Amino acid sequence: MQLAAFTAKGPWYKGNLHTHTTNSDGRFAPQATVDLYAQGGYDFLAISDHNHVTDVADLDPRGMALIPSVELHGGVAEMGQDYHLVCIGAHGPTLPIPPGTAQEAVDYVRAAGRLVFAAHPYWSSLTTRDLIDIDGFNGVEIYNNTCECGIGRGHSEPHVDALLARGRKILLTAVDDAHFGYWDGLGAWVMVRAAQLDVPSLLDAIEAGQFYATTGPEIKVVEVRDDTVHVECSPVRTVALVTPWPGCGWSTGRLREQGAEDPRIVEIDLPLHDGERGFRVEVVDHHGRRAWTNMAVAD
Ligand SMILES: [Zn+2]
Ligand SMILES: [Zn+2]
Repeated sequence: MQLAAFTAKGPWYKGNLHTHTTNSDGRFAPQATVDLYAQGGYDFLAISDHNHVTDVADLDPRGMALIPSVELHGGVAEMGQDYHLVCIGAHGPTLPIPPGTAQEAVDYVRAAGRLVFAAHPYWSSLTTRDLIDIDGFNGVEIYNNTCECGIGRGHSEPHVDALLARGRKILLTAVDDAHFGYWDGLGAWVMVRAAQLDVPSLLDAIEAGQFYATTGPEIKVVEVRDDTVHVECSPVRTVALVTPWPGCGWSTGRLREQGAEDPRIVEIDLPLHDGERGFRVEVVDHHGRRAWTNMAVAD
């Protein structure tokens, strides 16, 4: 039971998997958006305009890998709203999703490109059942920065855990969903361990789960050793083993004494209890910034 991100070889690459430009409702033109992320030290960027695949071949990548992508809207969820589905690695110009069921919408997006992520479930007021009832998507945005900055609804951990509890193999991303109407950029990203910096290698690595999601903290090592999970990270105040089953899991929060200062944790061994068939790691730093690994499951 190990995590692919921490057993894979190769360098780490930083990237944002959800971005808008003036090709839909973003504030900046595609090139200006690329420039901004390149200046921010990113290695790759997925431009995912609403119902429009921006042609990245027209852009100067400024040293980054640009992944053609698109955000499509379709299906009908419990509250009557549609699903937002981000297609990473779009095959070509993509038409809007025709009217139909949620499953038909996912199937449509799946045919349009390489990977499908369910975007911002909390912002969309998707119920956990809305996600449980559909299949064929690769992952879920566990955190969406524009939804957090805009209305305080960026976190979708309960949606993710509802799927993981049912044994669903889903990947967990943190994304900007940047529109730049307010400052929502360069705040949430994935760190991907890929063979090299090009679009096919990145897509292979993401599909294989060789990444973690973050709004700041760095996770350097996650390793299962017998009945403990060894974690090394940049300084944080809390490390948790999150498991999706009733009452399971463990957090360093329980080590804190009344009135004590926040600890400064850079390395720790957490207990993995009998019967816990898997876990994901979450860390929180002293500014409240968070990082999330994918789920490790027993072989
Ligand atoms: Zn959306
Ligand atoms: Zn979006």
